[in-house]
Amino acid sequence: MFVTLHKKIVRLMAFLLFSILLYQCSNQPNLSSTDRLSRSQDTPIKNIIFLIGDGMSLGQITLGRLKAHGVEGKLNVEKMPITGYLYTHCADNLITDSAAGATELSTGFKTNKGMIGVLPDSTAVLTLLEYFRDNGKATGMVVTSSITHATPAGFAAHVPYRKQETEIAEQLVDSNIDVLLGGGKQFFLPQEDTLSVRKDSRNLIAEAQKKGYQFVDTRDKLLRVKKTRVLGLFQKDGLEHKPEEPTLAEMTEKALSLLTEDPDGFFLMVEGSQIDWGGHRNDPDYVAEEMLGFDKAIKVALEFARKEGNTLVIVTADHETGGLSITGGKKNGKNLEVRWTSTYHTAMPVPIFAYGPYSDEFSGVHDNTEVPRIIARIMGIDNFPRKLNYRVTASGKKQNGHN
Ligand SMILES: [Zn+2]
Repeated sequence: MFVTLHKKIVRLMAFLLFSILLYQCSNQPNLSSTDRLSRSQDTPIKNIIFLIGDGMSLGQITLGRLKAHGVEGKLNVEKMPITGYLYTHCADNLITDSAAGATELSTGFKTNKGMIGVLPDSTAVLTLLEYFRDNGKATGMVVTSSITHATPAGFAAHVPYRKQETEIAEQLVDSNIDVLLGGGKQFFLPQEDTLSVRKDSRNLIAEAQKKGYQFVDTRDKLLRVKKTRVLGLFQKDGLEHKPEEPTLAEMTEKALSLLTEDPDGFFLMVEGSQIDWGGHRNDPDYVAEEMLGFDKAIKVALEFARKEGNTLVIVTADHETGGLSITGGKKNGKNLEVRWTSTYHTAMPVPIFAYGPYSDEFSGVHDNTEVPRIIARIMGIDNFPRKLNYRVTASGKKQNGHN
């Protein structure tokens, strides 16, 4: 009798101890609480995850948060320890766009509205992603727009005008970026294909495959990819949230699992592209859904960084869209009254959040061009920002012989 009871107690104790351990282990890399993440040690930075919510400022974040949790909860992005905000004006305009915004966040130079990876005089400038690539590190871009859209283009292409998406597609296939995931098949297929908007017979998907890329066009195929060089185009244009497409969080997780195989580190750009599209339509449900999809990708990035310890995570935006404000509703997030002041972008600043080594550097108020300059400084990258030794013509081709 006593022995049995004793055994039972021992078993119960063991079970409790095991449960506590299990809880602590599973709780460590999990961002389920409302706590803020702790600041990390300033160890050398190996990886950068740069997440951009297109058209995202405090209105969009607050709308997503209230719809998901009411006033009692936090989004994952709100658990990041370092916060600040950025001015977004571009070289020729108070109200910017994603082309100038992405160029400024990636190169450290101001440029004109609509321009991609070039100065106002069309001189090409180096992006941070290109710096990583040129120094033997892995690179990737993951978006829910076409992969040739203004934001990803601003990290890896050089053309005078953002609508030159067929030209941008050619440059992306030549860019040696390891992981490219998003939409935009129409810019890669030859004109003979019914989906194509190209005016030539180049098949950029076939060209990419020849260069060693694995091409995938469904969620299932993406989840099975094991090869680091992958081109995933899941729609003709922007993603449509169909079940056969991967989510932004799934694409981010896959990209991280592939890029982390490079022992030299990586640069990954992730964009919640359609927060902006919901803003242009003044559609609060669209904005909230996109914001929450982006926040799930942020969670994937933060959990990766928390495990690795040497990864800097930046979350910011190119500009605000819609002049979104919340003027009424319940504390539980029901019956929200949403007002808009524009169907275009506004001059409102955008937040910046940081987590990981040297993230303190991003605290405070900065111009958007300072973000890549700070990254270069804390990583010891010399000669940045940097002009490249060519200009691009109006058609987006390299004009050689210019310095
Ligand atoms: Zn926009």
